[in-house]
Amino acid sequence: MIMRAVQRAKSVTQFSTINALLVGLYDGVFPVREVMKCGHIGLGCSDRVSGEVIVVDGECYLARGGEAIARMRSDEPVPFAEVADLEAADRIETGALDKERLTDRLLSLVRSRNLFIGVRLDGEFDAVTVRRPPPVPHKPYPPLVDLLAHQDEEHIAGCTGTLVGFWAPKEYQGVTVAGLHIHFIDADRKRGGHVLDFRLKGGRLSYGAYTGVSIQLPATQAFLGADLAYRDIDAHIHQSEG
Ligand SMILES: [Zn+2]
Repeated sequence: MIMRAVQRAKSVTQFSTINALLVGLYDGVFPVREVMKCGHIGLGCSDRVSGEVIVVDGECYLARGGEAIARMRSDEPVPFAEVADLEAADRIETGALDKERLTDRLLSLVRSRNLFIGVRLDGEFDAVTVRRPPPVPHKPYPPLVDLLAHQDEEHIAGCTGTLVGFWAPKEYQGVTVAGLHIHFIDADRKRGGHVLDFRLKGGRLSYGAYTGVSIQLPATQAFLGADLAYRDIDAHIHQSEG
């Protein structure tokens, strides 16, 4: 039996890997227009990891510390992104949720821990804690864990908005972020970022499980010559993307 929520013909498309970010490959490679061809929801980070990217309704937004959210230019290159088309077929009303309970809910709806899950959650939030990277570093770039030790956190209280992102199986840690990785943007498209935690009052949850995963690797000299072997990968992804 094939589950209704499994989007068999559809793929999650990822540009570069989390591992590449961890070893300091922060320069933008993939133009926004190329990313947007592969999905209308998703997330990523901007050139030199200077901001958090939120893809929603086919628009690409950039959240940077101390600035209002801006729409990204189609030629702006990003070092990492993950996008998908999410069918609206599987949409449910939901009451209060936080990050942990959203994870549990998704896994019980999909009834497997072995597929990628795309998620969109629109609703009323009591609170959302987001982070954005610190000001753009200059070369040589510091390791991602050191860079994000100085991240800019914001607690947004009482707002309407949208969470978008993915849950990935633990076997893909390093290729992507294992577990739930979500970004937030408010309804006014003014505030948002990478989500550390949230408290949802209630809203609509759309989700889909994907059997297809497509990964575009950079063809840059920096990527070709990089040593992608990384120690402490679990701990450092947890620290930088948790
Ligand atoms: Zn993120």
